[in-house]
Amino acid sequence: MKSHRMNSPDDSISIRRIQTSIYRIPTDFPESDGTLQWDHTTLVLVRASAGNATGIGYTYADRATANLIHDLLAKTIEGRDAMNIPGCWEAMVRRIRNLGRPGISSMAISAVDTALWDLKARLLNIPLVKLLGAVRASVPIYGSGGFTSYSIKQLEEQLGDWVEQGIPRVKMKIGRDAAADRERVRAVRKVIEFSELFVDANGAYSRKQALRQAEDFAQYGVTWFEEPVSSDDLEGLHLIRDRAPAGIDIAAGEYGYNAGYFRRMLETQAVDVLQADATRCGGITGFLQAAALCQAFHLPLSAHTAPTVHTQAGCAAIPLRNLEYFHDHVRIENMFFDGVPQPVHGELRPDLSRPGMGVELKQAEAERFAA
Ligand SMILES: [Mg+2]
Repeated sequence: MKSHRMNSPDDSISIRRIQTSIYRIPTDFPESDGTLQWDHTTLVLVRASAGNATGIGYTYADRATANLIHDLLAKTIEGRDAMNIPGCWEAMVRRIRNLGRPGISSMAISAVDTALWDLKARLLNIPLVKLLGAVRASVPIYGSGGFTSYSIKQLEEQLGDWVEQGIPRVKMKIGRDAAADRERVRAVRKVIEFSELFVDANGAYSRKQALRQAEDFAQYGVTWFEEPVSSDDLEGLHLIRDRAPAGIDIAAGEYGYNAGYFRRMLETQAVDVLQADATRCGGITGFLQAAALCQAFHLPLSAHTAPTVHTQAGCAAIPLRNLEYFHDHVRIENMFFDGVPQPVHGELRPDLSRPGMGVELKQAEAERFAA
């Protein structure tokens, strides 16, 4: 790849074009968690080009996100300097002021911001992690899936398979039926005797129910209880964080779309581990803002899903504890991209021989799912 190394600080290179594509990918089995069910995932992909390079970014969102990028954000940043990502980011945030920052707007900004980081690293012909600055060479992951729609047998097979692959942490969904949840946790624990076991209720329980479940889960060595109650109930999360057995960390933050949301979650002492998702919270720029907030509050950060985006960003985020290696996204990213990092000893390691995020779109494969 041709390098576009800058000769002087005045050199800039214009963003030529922002393109969007929408892909609708059916799940491999009907999936559900404590509060939602789904049979497909929508991937909104952005290509940002400047000079001889094209960067890619994406978000898992509704197709409306693509319309917003196409109709509004593309015009906002085309012609701007591809080297100045904060300038582009700020212009996009200003542009969506009247639409509201949380939700679709932030997912749209996230996909573009990630494409811009990939583009800048490609223009410089370096891996993204070199551009961001690595504080670690690889990111610990946890296997995540274990849907409530799975039979106990499927649950055991999927989680057991991750453990066999050398991933020492696995997470299952709970929240449909408190008694059945306890049974399922007990069954899984027997299969993955020596691994860390995480659970995620996606906000399904009441406060009292969550406390009771935490006591029970502690007996099975559960060390991570995600969204025991709704993430909108910060007092409830705080209550459970305070009263749950000491060995269980309370995690939440996946619906965070901006720094203010993360600050409130941290200020109210709602979590032991903050989760942030670069495909929702304003891209890699927003993810690193969440990391800075975690440092200010002396708490660890966990990267929510989208492993390809979070591998290199996670290596640059100082307080990062782990990355969610989510079944749906792992499957999709392996189908869609060449160069996706694969787990080795429970970690993902950026390929330093490739520029940017290190992945290329498999055009023909992707086209099969074009929406
Ligand atoms: Mg979750």
